[in-house]
Amino acid sequence: MEKTLVILKPDAVKRAMVGEIIKRFESVGLKIVASKMLVVNDDLATKHYPKDRKEFITGMGKKTLENYKEMGVNPHDEMGTDDPHKIGLAIREWLVKYITSGPVLAIVLEGPHAVELVRKIVGHTLPLKAAPGTIRGDLAFDSSYLANTVKRAIKNLVHASGSVEEAKFEIALWFKPEDICSYKRVDEDEMIK
Ligand code: ADP
Ligand code: MG
Repeated sequence: MEKTLVILKPDAVKRAMVGEIIKRFESVGLKIVASKMLVVNDDLATKHYPKDRKEFITGMGKKTLENYKEMGVNPHDEMGTDDPHKIGLAIREWLVKYITSGPVLAIVLEGPHAVELVRKIVGHTLPLKAAPGTIRGDLAFDSSYLANTVKRAIKNLVHASGSVEEAKFEIALWFKPEDICSYKRVDEDEMIK
């Protein structure tokens, strides 16, 4: 059993996709054990997307460079550098603006392999690359190219914890232990035993 954090980002809320998205997690068998709607402040956004998490920042930069390469875009023209860490830091600024731009719905989901399962259902970071059947693939079309030309984060509807460690850190950041509920789904035994 694992728990994972999902955030329905401001575009999901504003596009009235909340029901559509939650339905997909419930249908696969995941259990909602906590949820709240809030407008994220800079403090929470900064802690959620920490500047000093080097592999996260550089990872975003690397994904962006791969996307630029495929599209024949020169990173120097777009971002003024080809250093993945510098690109990652610039993206992080846009990300903080994006996540604080309107109400979000934060949810904790529980189930077997919850972290991996949720990532699969959510799909690739870039909606353009996300497979059909995934949330990002079915409900959005954004790309690094579209986003970066107007200097904004990729609108990909949801955040989902990337690993079990990330999930533990993020759940503790967003929820108090007493906010997490415990109950049994009626189909739980049928699906597991
Ligand atoms: P994921 O959300 O799939 O775990 P990351 O953790 O790498 O992806 O990135 C966090 C968020 O940053 C993404 O969901 C997306 O909104 C945004 N993002 C990532 N790469 C870029 C990029 N090249 N340009 C703009 N925004 C980006
Ligand atoms: Mg991530």
